[in-house]
Amino acid sequence: MLEKSVLITGGSRGIGRACALLAARRGWRVAVNYARDEAAAHEVVMAIRAGGGAAEAVRGDVAVEADVLAMFATAERLAPLGAVVVNAGIVAPAARLTEMTAERMARMFAVNVLGSYLTAREAARRLSTRLGGAGGSITFVSSAAARLGAPNLYVDYAGAKAALDTLVKGLSIELGGDGVRVNGVRPGLIVTDIHASGGEPERAFALGASAPMGRPGQPEEVANAIVWLMGEEASYVTGALLDVSGGR
Ligand code: NAP
Repeated sequence: MLEKSVLITGGSRGIGRACALLAARRGWRVAVNYARDEAAAHEVVMAIRAGGGAAEAVRGDVAVEADVLAMFATAERLAPLGAVVVNAGIVAPAARLTEMTAERMARMFAVNVLGSYLTAREAARRLSTRLGGAGGSITFVSSAAARLGAPNLYVDYAGAKAALDTLVKGLSIELGGDGVRVNGVRPGLIVTDIHASGGEPERAFALGASAPMGRPGQPEEVANAIVWLMGEEASYVTGALLDVSGGR
């Protein structure tokens, strides 16, 4: 087992869960963050331990600074921090901008933008060799929506994800000489529960068929890209945005 921990925000379900399981198989000790669904987080932790790995669940809202600090404390109890996957994200029911309430937009940006920036800041503070850290990686889970704009669905979500792409660019340069690689993946339509939370459980299957590859993606296919970017095999990759979207 590596003597390194990884914090995965939203590591209890969907893409984050697949990352947690794969990272553990690669020897990482995994802090599995979740917001509400304790049973799902527990299931991931138990699966990792059953495979001989080390994991802890940590409840917390990425939009709340104190919760983010607690997530890092959990990861650091497992082993010195080596990587962070900035994955937690939300959507909302399909709407045009003219129909969106301020409350909806505030929550969208609080979780997807502020939450990601807070998580990345705490990661940089701990990993940066300039600040006494040992180096490592930060990998963001953006979305193809950042390129496509998500008209008539959620332009708020698309803009929030575009902010992450810009942060990958800027932060990768800020931390380029500090031993921290910063990258992002942009998943397309992936089969997870997020579509149900946006009111369209069949969305990945319905629209995935129209992707050039003719199908939606599986969370494990995104996790393969994330865990590669996160680890030493990608030692000269920083500032990259990798589309994992079946050509969409
Ligand atoms: P998901 O199945 O809905 O899982 C979301 C995860 O994030 C859960 O573990 C959830 O925990 C956690 N979470 C939600 N709000 C949180 C908060 N405020 N603080 C901490 N954790 C929170 O989603 P997914 O489809 O795997 O999506 C993961 C990431 O991929 C998101 O950033 C999403 O935008 C992005 N993405 C997904 C797709 C897709 O088609 N699925 C496509 C492009 C990008 P609880 O269960 O406890 O609430």
